[in-house]
Amino acid sequence: MSKREFQTEVSQLLHLIVHSLYSHPEIFLRELVSNASDALDKLKYLTLTDEAFKPLAFDPKIELVLDEEKKTLTVSDNGIGMNEEDLVSHLGTIARSGTKNFLANLTGDAKCDSNLIGQFGVGFYSAFIVSDRVEVISRKAGEDQAYLWTSDGKSGFDIGPAARESQGTSVTVHFNEAGAEYSNGWKLREIVRRYSNHIAFPIHLTSTESEWNEEEKKSVPTRKTEQVNSASALWKRSKSELTDEDYRGLYKTISGDYEDPLFWFHTQAEGTNEYTTLFYVPSQAPFDLYRADYRPGVKLYVKRVFITDDAKDLLPTYLRFLRGIIDSEDLPLNVSREIPQQNRTLAAIRSASVKKVLNGLKGIAADNPEQYAKFIEQFNRPLKEGLYSDFANKELLLDLLRVKTTKSDGWTSFADVKGRMQEGQKAIYFISGGPGAQLRTSPLLEIYRKKEIEVLILDDEIDEFVFAGLDKYGDIDLKAVNKTSAGEDLKTGEDKGKSEDLKPLLARLTAALGARVKAVRASMRLADSPSCIVSDEDEPSLKMRQMMRAMGEAGTGLPDAKPILEVNPDHEIVRKLQASPDETFVTDAAFLLLDQAILLEGVALEDPAAFVQRLNRVLAKAV
Ligand code: ADP
Repeated sequence: MSKREFQTEVSQLLHLIVHSLYSHPEIFLRELVSNASDALDKLKYLTLTDEAFKPLAFDPKIELVLDEEKKTLTVSDNGIGMNEEDLVSHLGTIARSGTKNFLANLTGDAKCDSNLIGQFGVGFYSAFIVSDRVEVISRKAGEDQAYLWTSDGKSGFDIGPAARESQGTSVTVHFNEAGAEYSNGWKLREIVRRYSNHIAFPIHLTSTESEWNEEEKKSVPTRKTEQVNSASALWKRSKSELTDEDYRGLYKTISGDYEDPLFWFHTQAEGTNEYTTLFYVPSQAPFDLYRADYRPGVKLYVKRVFITDDAKDLLPTYLRFLRGIIDSEDLPLNVSREIPQQNRTLAAIRSASVKKVLNGLKGIAADNPEQYAKFIEQFNRPLKEGLYSDFANKELLLDLLRVKTTKSDGWTSFADVKGRMQEGQKAIYFISGGPGAQLRTSPLLEIYRKKEIEVLILDDEIDEFVFAGLDKYGDIDLKAVNKTSAGEDLKTGEDKGKSEDLKPLLARLTAALGARVKAVRASMRLADSPSCIVSDEDEPSLKMRQMMRAMGEAGTGLPDAKPILEVNPDHEIVRKLQASPDETFVTDAAFLLLDQAILLEGVALEDPAAFVQRLNRVLAKAV
């Protein structure tokens, strides 16, 4: 035997797991059973696809053997197994990226943390919550030598040669005080039923039960072995046979989540393409939803054989929050080596699945608004990502999306906003590119408030990008309030007269501002403010420009954004400027009108010192 140290992250993780999960000790069993099941999946796959393994007589099963006297439980599988190198690297280091980040995510709240751990899958180490010593004996399929790995979960582990009759892994936990209650067959059976009922392989439990003995006329301890899970591919059973409890149970088995899912969509498709899909929407967004190295939540099966849970393009990226399975009757078993999108069968399943899920969500939005509100709280943003990437489903996605508006603080739908449009209103208008409170005070909204036209407040960071690319909801135009055409919509005959009168001043302002602006115009959208900035249809706003720059994309060829300055013909400042013969003063005022409008957009001034100098000159004249 040789002694080895744990990688630092493992020690940290072990410490955290043991100290944050002590109130959830029973998860250890689910984790060990799930590892055993993965090991069986891997070997099963090899026996079906790899010539070297095809001759193997393989009867996959998981065995739980409880020794009530010694207070030990052994979880065995006859799966893929591990050799010495595997044991050292799989059970002594953490290869997964994002481990540090994950550690930082643990909150100390047992319920939250156990969910995170389940999702992250640091499973094996949870054995140390209930055990002072864990022994792993494993022999890799196709190899002759077995190895023993043992550890107290503190300093490190010992590893050395051992004996095992055939391939597979046995993990023995020696229960400590926290684990004492699990030295009980009845208890173990209950935990398996709760968390691992839908593991596809049979799980047998051997334990001691007291049984009535007729001859002795008393109960005597008897060793018994029985299957404790249902071990069926539940998704293949007909929908009418399945209860909500069945569905929830399967969800917990495959997702590692302790909470119930919000809802699910189960499809059994027949015809040219035969497949089953079962997709769940979790009640909480997965912790890695917005991380580049997120783990996909949908597992691919072929005729009930597990193929992969690591294929990111089974579904579009924006649906990565879904958990569940795709099981195809038509695919070859070696499909995982292909890129799913290049496989016609998978591509067809993928696009049908997207439609199915989106239409399913639409149904829930209509029938069960309360549940749908919970969904929106968690997953509104991924839907927007869809608007940005899935053009084929744009209309559906727009209907599913919820937004805030000047007339509603809570979430509202595009359909509702459409229903509230005013007589003669030409488009649905929105403002974006900043925090809600800032957007709500923008001068650009003044005219809409006056005319009681509802404006969408799009205050999510990604809105500026998502909605810049959208021009319609059904047959109704979608327009940003800071665009020229939104201003055109508002013009009346009377306004035309006003802009005529303003022409001489506009010329003076244009001359003063020179290259700082694209144009200076009379505005019809202002009520209380003297000025605002807008941009032409296809040009990025100053705000967009600033966001791109913040993302380090300054050099991406976006044209330099020059704003159009609009001034309010009815505002006192503007009227007085019209009459002012003082050209220096008009120049200062021109810049101040421009810079204040820029500031109100939440954009930083390029030359704040010049702004302050002008402000002070004007103040000096006024005092
Ligand atoms: P995870 O299962 O999420 O990868 P674990 O810490 O539970 O994390 O397991 C680490 C690794 O150890 C697994 O990925 C697997 O390679 C290996 N392993 C664990 N248990 C077994 C087993 N029963 N048979 C074969 N390999 C196993």
